[in-house]
Parts: sequence; structure tokens; C-alpha cells
Amino acid sequence: MLQRADLRKSLTGRIAEVFFSIQGEGPTAGMPAVFVRLQGCSVGCAWCDTKYSWDPRAGREVALDEVVEEAAAFPCRRSVITGGEPLESSLFAPLVEALTTRGFTLEVETSGTLAPPAVAVAQWNVSVKLAGSGVPEAKRINPDAIREFLRLGAWWKFVVVDASNVAEVLRLAERFAIPRERILLMPEGVRREEILERSPWVWEECKRYGFRFSPRLHILLWGAKRGV
Ligand code: SF4
Repeated sequence: MLQRADLRKSLTGRIAEVFFSIQGEGPTAGMPAVFVRLQGCSVGCAWCDTKYSWDPRAGREVALDEVVEEAAAFPCRRSVITGGEPLESSLFAPLVEALTTRGFTLEVETSGTLAPPAVAVAQWNVSVKLAGSGVPEAKRINPDAIREFLRLGAWWKFVVVDASNVAEVLRLAERFAIPRERILLMPEGVRREEILERSPWVWEECKRYGFRFSPRLHILLWGAKRGV
């Protein structure tokens, strides 16, 4: 029978990138974190800015131990597991377990299209996709998964462009009884200028409905650059 250590060596999966940066969005925006971007996403948002992470055969093949060592080499014990859609990766649950064993506090960025496995994650950041993503409703809204994330005390992040997006967020909040103080609105944009221009409208909407405003620091600081 394979021992645990051997199992970790034999477990492999594909990742897009590992890098050390600061969390750009959400309730922990500004905190240093090691990002592990798992390869593969079948959601297909029209405006996705990480399309290189879609193909599950792209990226690089790594053993679980290898990616954990790569993450642990940075002077930080907070990690953000992202994608792609990380819950589609067979590496996800073992990676959570292995990084936790190495002393990492974990955040996960997910679209909420799949129910979370039973793993210990400190912070789930769920970005349920709105109609403007172009993703069919049956794919982007998974009621069972949403209820499970609610039970886990997730944070809910929405990128918004206009009042119809905010109305959609309000309908989702009502349908699933998502506490408004756990909802973050973020201005849409891939350029610093777009984010800055849209931000005042977004924070006024937050004040109006009791949502929380989230910046998108990575875009403000680096624009649409990869691996920062
Ligand atoms: S779920 Fe995320 S990675 Fe997948 S297409 Fe949508 S924005 Fe891109």
C-alpha cells in the first residue's frame, strides 16, 4: 500500500502558475499571499481575463509535492488557490490538505458552479456569474452549491458594470438569503482608468444597499498583467 508521502509524490495535476503577490480583491485585499492557479475551467465567461487557464491540458504538469515546495519557498504562509475553476481540478483537495499541513492559511477563489469538497479552507471567495457573462443560467447558478457555500460562511464577489447588474445581485441575495454584508461589489475593467472611473458609482451602490466595496488592486497597480 502507498504511504502518505508516496501518495503525494505520485499525485499530479496541471497548474497555470504559482506566484507571490498581494490579494487584489475581496475582504483580504492587500494581504500578501502565494497564488496557486490551477489549470482548467469549463465555465466560459465571455469577459474572462485568464483564458489561458481554461484548457485542462495546458499549463504544466506538476507533482503535488513539487507545487507545495514551490509555494513554501516564498516567505508567506497565506495562499490563494485560484484558477481556472479550481474545484474542477483533481489536485484541489489534496493541495488544500498539503498546504494546510505546511502551515498555510487558505483562501479559494471559485465561481460557485460546483459544491465545495469537505476540506478545511479559511475563506471561500465565491464569484457567482451574472447573465452578462454569457454563461447559461443552468451552468452558472448551482443552488445546492450556493447553499453549501452559504453554510461555510463564504464571501460573495460580483464584478458590476451597470444598474442591471446590481439589480441581479439583489435578486440573488434575496433568492438565496445571502447576507448583504458578505457581498462585495467590484468595478469592472481591465485598465486602471476604467476601474477608477467606475469606482465612485460602485461605492455609491454599496452605500445604498449595504454591500461592501472591493477594489481590484492588481489592476490598479499592474493593469492586465499576468502573474503579479
Ligand atoms: S469562472 Fe473564472 S476562470 Fe472560468 S471563465 Fe469565468 S472568470 Fe474565467
